[in-house]
This record gives sequence, structure tokens and C-alpha cells, in this order.
Amino acid sequence: MARKSLTPQMENFATALNCMDGRVQLPVIEVVRSFFGVSYVDNITEAGIVKYLSDEIGSIQTKSVLASIEISVSKHGSRAIAAAAHHDCAGNPQNEENQKAQLQRAVEFLKAQFPACKVIGLWVGDGWTARCIIPTQR
Ligand SMILES: [Zn+2]
Repeated sequence: MARKSLTPQMENFATALNCMDGRVQLPVIEVVRSFFGVSYVDNITEAGIVKYLSDEIGSIQTKSVLASIEISVSKHGSRAIAAAAHHDCAGNPQNEENQKAQLQRAVEFLKAQFPACKVIGLWVGDGWTARCIIPTQR
């Protein structure tokens, strides 16, 4: 599926909002590529990123994440965003139930911010595989 050219191809990018945790990078990128059928995933990370898209929306991290998404959308033509949360998150040490609730609010927040984009929510469990638990509504 990967193209030989590294020149950006419009609509061949999706955007992942992921924790910085090294255990979740490859699982999330793989699922985002296959779910949206894209070659490239722009990867935006913060420690426990979903909290900055739900409970701490006024934070400097939120502003930074939104600015990076804007670049992914406007320069790379991304129309698909995946937010991810995961088991054993050091940056957002909440239980699974709370993290999934934050993820739901993060997806709603992102849909409002980027209405032209599809938005999904991914959960990475203790087996370190990513799965979509909040599918796109559009
Ligand atoms: Zn984490």
C-alpha cells in the first residue's frame, strides 16, 4: 500500500492523536492505516493526550495539538482523525472506564473542531493491540 514517492498525496494521510508511550505507537499507526486506507499517518503525541482533549481543554497542550492537527488537515489533506487512549498510561493514570469516557468526550470535541473530518476513538488494551471502540458517525 505504501507509495514509493514521499511527496504528500492529498487524501492519503490520516492523523493520529496518541500518547507518547513507545508501546502504543506501532499498534495505533497500523490500525489507523488499515481503518482509513491511507499510506501515511501524521502522529501527534502528548503524554496522556486524551485528557488534553477532554478534561483540560484550556491547556497549552490542547492549543499545540490543535495547531498540529490543523497542519495535517490543511497541508496534508487529512480528513480522518483517530484519538487513542491506552492501558497503563503513565501520563493519564486513570482507570479504563474513566479513560474511555475521556476518549468519548475527546472524539466529540474533535468533531466540533474539525467538522470536515471523520473522527474515531481507539483503545489499546493490555495485549497492546489497538481497536476502534468509537466508530465514525459519518
Ligand atoms: Zn500513555
